[in-house]
Amino acid sequence: MTVPADLPPLREVIARHGLGARKALGQHFLLDLNLTGRIARAAPGIGEGSVIEVGPGPGGLTRALLAEGAARVIAVEKDSRCLEALAELAAAYPGRLEVVEGDALELDLGALGAAPRQIVSNLPYNISTALLVRWLTTLAGDPRAFSAMTLMFQKEVAERLIAAPRSRDYGRLSVLTQWLCQARPLFDIPPRAFTPPPKVTSTVVSIIPREQPLAPASLTTLEKVTAAAFGQRRKMLRQSLKSLGGKSEGGPAAWLEATGIAPTARAEELSVEDFCALAACVDRG
Ligand code: SAM
Repeated sequence: MTVPADLPPLREVIARHGLGARKALGQHFLLDLNLTGRIARAAPGIGEGSVIEVGPGPGGLTRALLAEGAARVIAVEKDSRCLEALAELAAAYPGRLEVVEGDALELDLGALGAAPRQIVSNLPYNISTALLVRWLTTLAGDPRAFSAMTLMFQKEVAERLIAAPRSRDYGRLSVLTQWLCQARPLFDIPPRAFTPPPKVTSTVVSIIPREQPLAPASLTTLEKVTAAAFGQRRKMLRQSLKSLGGKSEGGPAAWLEATGIAPTARAEELSVEDFCALAACVDRG
């Protein structure tokens, strides 16, 4: 581990740069060095390629990534108040930290830095699922765009990502994530570890992109099918899929018959592969 001796404590950095947390930006800072170190160590192979950190804030996790040996960190931050503090950190680790001021919901992270490229982030919770869906969309086009994603979500969202069929949390996000990636929870972090504390427990999740999606499907159609099916999750699929239309002789009944799925089944009973097969049928019309 390489720790530059002259780095001031994070609380001092926050006070000196006036970085009072802003709720609209989902700011809950993690100042506990044991925890930031643990997240950085959970990210595989950071000594190679690029680590893209979304929302570095005052730079707690950024420091940990650099101290744990990240070859190159590209930190994307929307809050311009944090830039000076991050510039100080970049100066302490010459050539290893690039700070990009921008909105991660608009930037193409797959085009930043050299491959292999991984994302590590204590995500702003208000946009965590939007960001994940954005990165899954990038992966659907290029499974090698990211080699890994080590992300902190609110626990309730983490449970949705990893949920298995027939469980309460299984839904659209489970299907899309597991279609393209292997996701597993690593550890929880209690609210008191953050400044200011959020209302909920957080979970760090390891999300490793698959070399190939679990089954062939178009992302757009898979999104439509899962939205229709889980949008009315208590209804049988022959009913909930009606909104997707289809030819007069086709439609839900024909799709379900062609895929061998019972017309009386409900969304939560289908595997990821079942959803892919349904999406392929919908595309055929
Ligand atoms: N990484 C820091 C830590 O662990 O203490 C801060 C994490 S805080 C939960 C989320 C960070 O994401 C904040 O710094 C916030 O300003 C930033 N953020 C919020 N929305 C963003 C966006 N659309 N693009 C980039 N960063 C954003």
